[in-house]
Amino acid sequence: MCGRRRLTTHWFSFPLSCPRCGFAFERQPGHFIGAVGMNTVITFALLLITLLGGIAISWPDVSALPLLAATLSVAIIVPIAIHPTAKTLWIAVDLIFHPLQPGEALGGPEEGAPQKG
Ligand SMILES: [Zn+2]
Repeated sequence: MCGRRRLTTHWFSFPLSCPRCGFAFERQPGHFIGAVGMNTVITFALLLITLLGGIAISWPDVSALPLLAATLSVAIIVPIAIHPTAKTLWIAVDLIFHPLQPGEALGGPEEGAPQKG
């Protein structure tokens, strides 16, 4: 919310709130299901691009094994690679549709205030 960069210190651990402004990222239980959906949509879009691109490149002699290897690689690597980005993106999309309410950002540890969440 405050524009702080590098929210994550580890790939799979996302902070509960912003270290600078104290905004609690999980605004309600199940909030991050949207991030899972966003991750799924991006992964499926890249799968479709990989599949159609692979077919287009190798046309008319389309062989299944390289195409399977490429799509499996995308299906495994992309969701892991974009995990923190999908969460951050989802937080941004949610903030567009549900703007910050008074009291949601109380100031984080970087500002010396107690961390909410
Ligand atoms: Zn912040």
